[in-house]
Amino acid sequence: HHQMTLQYHITRFGEGDRLLVARDITRLKQLEQTRQTFVANASHELRTPLTVIRGYLETFLDQELPKPIMRGLSQMQQQTLRMESLVSDLLLLSRLESSQHVKDEQPVNLPSLLYRIKRDGILLSGTKEHILTLNIASDKDLLGQPNELHSAFSNLVFNAVRYTPEGCEIKIEWRSDASGGHLSVIDNGRGIESHHIPHLTERFYRVDEGRSSETGGTGLGLSIVKHVLARHGAKLEIKSKLGVGSEFICHFPVDMLTDVEIEESEVDN
Ligand code: ADP
Repeated sequence: HHQMTLQYHITRFGEGDRLLVARDITRLKQLEQTRQTFVANASHELRTPLTVIRGYLETFLDQELPKPIMRGLSQMQQQTLRMESLVSDLLLLSRLESSQHVKDEQPVNLPSLLYRIKRDGILLSGTKEHILTLNIASDKDLLGQPNELHSAFSNLVFNAVRYTPEGCEIKIEWRSDASGGHLSVIDNGRGIESHHIPHLTERFYRVDEGRSSETGGTGLGLSIVKHVLARHGAKLEIKSKLGVGSEFICHFPVDMLTDVEIEESEVDN
């Protein structure tokens, strides 16, 4: 009554001889499924208690209480917010893992999506006063799931804001050519050592554990980016040089591109 999953490997040896090895990975698949369901349920169940705790904390923080208590409450509030974003990233990740490909693809209106992300990036930067620029160098739009793409691109832009020092320049660029569409987030910040790069998209992988937990990230950002891109048939390329800066490029295949739909009010007649 169970479906069986086999993994095949063909090895060539000698003159035209081939060895076919079939491995039964049914059990492995079931375990992976169990893990995914567990993470999804656990993060879902954690949401309600966290909301209740945060609600009470907000009420207490509105009162005039002794200073040490206020300090404690405000610490608790910060940590609750951190836990909430962790839980929502875990939930998002398990949703992304539950199917291989986006289903309801639609034109996403990339300029407006990227404009909103740029604006939020400026807000996040606050007094660090980064210089954010947006360059739409293609008249193509992207087909996809707008919320997922928003999560992916905003993770890249927010990382650029969080991991670069004051006054750095962050460029968001969209271009397309015969090979597809390319969305880049480029910064001139401190860069990443090359041996870290292949691991950046692993869950909870961080270059600098101490500094990262201060920055408010969950450690799941680039893992979410990788999953969202895979579901759109796209790939993430990371280029970085220590002391020079980093570039995160999302490469979308040609079949995810579409002509920009012109709104009727914009048509000249
Ligand atoms: P986090 O929640 O820690 O930001 P991510 O998966 O988004 O998790 O990123 C993983 C790590 O990659 C970060 O902890 C940080 O060390 C590094 N990183 C990501 N983006 C940049 C960047 N633009 N410049 C320097 N380091 C970066």
